[in-house]
Amino acid sequence: MRILLVEDEKRVASFIVRGLKEEHYAVDTADEAEKGLFMAGVNPYDLIILDVMLPGMDGLTLCRELRNKKQTVPILMLTARGSVKDKVQGLNAGADDYLAKPFEFEELLARVKALLRRNRFEKSTQILVGDLRLDQITHEVERGGKRIELTSKQYALLEYLMIHAGTIVTRTMISEHVWNESFDTLTNVIDVYVNYLRNKIDKGFAKPLIHTVRGTGYVFKES
Ligand code: CA
Repeated sequence: MRILLVEDEKRVASFIVRGLKEEHYAVDTADEAEKGLFMAGVNPYDLIILDVMLPGMDGLTLCRELRNKKQTVPILMLTARGSVKDKVQGLNAGADDYLAKPFEFEELLARVKALLRRNRFEKSTQILVGDLRLDQITHEVERGGKRIELTSKQYALLEYLMIHAGTIVTRTMISEHVWNESFDTLTNVIDVYVNYLRNKIDKGFAKPLIHTVRGTGYVFKES
């Protein structure tokens, strides 16, 4: 994972770089926004840490510039100011998260990891659980090399379950994310669709992937 840090204060920059390198991240630094803008244009960063207060172009402007250039890289904004107004400005400029100085490195690291996790999932076009593969671009699904044909709703349900693999997914979560306002809570439509999916992806395979959590919902996992 590669990170770009845009920060003009040398002491703060070296403190962050040292900590991130200890965590096995590759880190590049820029001490002004123009340099950061150029570097972000030529290198595939997984994350950008951006100080708001910079000489010349400020961090908010740089953030807007990156978003105008369709850069979807996660951006964590840093600032000495911690007011609600500053936070809102940063988020409105297109930042994903915000951290007010001074901060503990542990908090910065926790936010970095959370953003990278989010980014990894959002950038990945394929989801793999056990021997089941789902391609979010082509919408192809196969298990053990065997192609599985699904209806649109079955695909949406499977994708939702796979995104949340390993955690319990409640019927409410499914109804809110897979169905629209027309969903009728009095029906057992979710159970019906889960059974459709079971027939298509689990039937004939030694290890079922869809598991019922009695009274709660489902969990999608290998065993
Ligand atoms: Ca600064």
